[in-house]
Amino acid sequence: MMCADFLHLEKDVAELEKADVEYLHFDIMDGVFVPNLMLCNEMMKGLRKGTTIPFDVHLMIVHPEQKIKWFDLKPNDLVSVHYESTPHIHRAIQEIKNAGAKPAIALNPATPICCIEHVLLDVDMVLLMTVNPGFAGQKLVEQTLIKIKATRDFLDKNGYENVMLQVDGNCSFANIPRMRDQGADCFVAGSSSVFAKETTIADACKKLRKMMK
Ligand code: ZN
Repeated sequence: MMCADFLHLEKDVAELEKADVEYLHFDIMDGVFVPNLMLCNEMMKGLRKGTTIPFDVHLMIVHPEQKIKWFDLKPNDLVSVHYESTPHIHRAIQEIKNAGAKPAIALNPATPICCIEHVLLDVDMVLLMTVNPGFAGQKLVEQTLIKIKATRDFLDKNGYENVMLQVDGNCSFANIPRMRDQGADCFVAGSSSVFAKETTIADACKKLRKMMK
């Protein structure tokens, strides 16, 4: 949603709803964990009134375990917390569960996947950043393609076949098939696809759906 048209948010949400998107992805940034400020709990509350699409809340904030309660979460919402954002990642995941939402664990491009081995039992999804978090419009970090495959293999070999693998960053029309081929199954579509200037939300979603077949 950070790539949506803030002047016409209601219109964009209506178009996303019409296109049957699975989640609305909210990038919450605190200017500390990442060098930018973006979106917030109050904005999400406002948008909730205009849609039934579940929210996918990506927390790029320090000490998320202390802030889960700030968000009005629903049972089908996903909430991602970064391994790097707190020494108490297990507690953060438990707080998401206590709030009734589905927890996910997020990793920056340089963080190895072994760091999350002991929380995989507690999460519904792994989010791999495919750019460094903080800004839209960045170029794919190519090494993350290898990491997508390594993560999918690790999940499948260790009994976590049901854990979704989301990729976030430069999910363009050109990159999404490459990411999918490595094992990603959930794509955060932003300024290089769904909200690209040269297309409409409806056309972009149609094009993406065709790619998934
Ligand atoms: Zn995100």
